[in-house]
Amino acid sequence: MRLQVVEHPLVAHKLTVLRDERTESPTFRLLADELVTLLAYEATRDARVAPLRITTPVGPADGVKLSAPKPLVVPILRAGLGMLDGMARLLPTAEIGFLGMIRDEQTLEATTYATRLPDELTGRQCYLLDPMLATGGTLAAAIHFVADRGAGQITAVCLLAAPEGVAFLEQETADLAVPLMIVTAAVDERLNDKGYIVPGLGDAGDRLYGVAG
Ligand code: URA
Repeated sequence: MRLQVVEHPLVAHKLTVLRDERTESPTFRLLADELVTLLAYEATRDARVAPLRITTPVGPADGVKLSAPKPLVVPILRAGLGMLDGMARLLPTAEIGFLGMIRDEQTLEATTYATRLPDELTGRQCYLLDPMLATGGTLAAAIHFVADRGAGQITAVCLLAAPEGVAFLEQETADLAVPLMIVTAAVDERLNDKGYIVPGLGDAGDRLYGVAG
C-alpha cells in the first residue's frame, strides 16, 4: 500500500477552513469539492493513457487519451457523495458506482447497506471516495469489495486520515494482489475513544449535509 500525503499550500489552506468549527455547510461543501479536485490531481497520476496522434492548427502532434476500460469512481455513502463532483470534474469520462456503508457507532464495524456497481470490474482503475480514514473499517471493506470484483488498481481519496486507520489498512490489505494507493491531505494525531479523528474536522457527513436525525 502506498500512502501519499499531498503537501501544497492550497490544500493546507482549504483543509484549515474545513477543520474550523465556524465553517458552515455551504462553505464546507464548496471547499471540500475544491480540495478533492486538488487531491484528485495527485490520485490520477497513474491514470492509464494510450498514445493519440492529433493535428494542431500548425501541424501533427503526439498526445495521449485516457485508455479503456473507463475508470470507475465510487463514493462511499453518505459523506463520500460530497467528494463526487470534485473528482468527476477531473475525470469526466469515468463511470460512477455507489457503495453505501454505515459504521456501527458502538462496535465501529462497517456494514454494506446499498451497492450500485458493475458486477465485473476486471482491470478497472477504481477511485474510492471516503472523506475520513478513521478506524479504516469502512475503507477496508470497500477495498475488498471492489478487489473481489476484479479491480485492477485501487486508489482511495480521503480528506483526512488517522494513523490508526492507515495502520489498519496496511494490515488488512497486506495480501491484496491489487496495487493500492491512499491519497489524503493530512494524517492527523490519533483517534479518540468515539472513533473520531483528532483534531480532525468532526463528522464529515454532518458538516456537509447538516445533522441527520
Ligand atoms: N467519520 C467522520 O466523519 N469523522 C471522523 O472524525 C471519523 C469518522
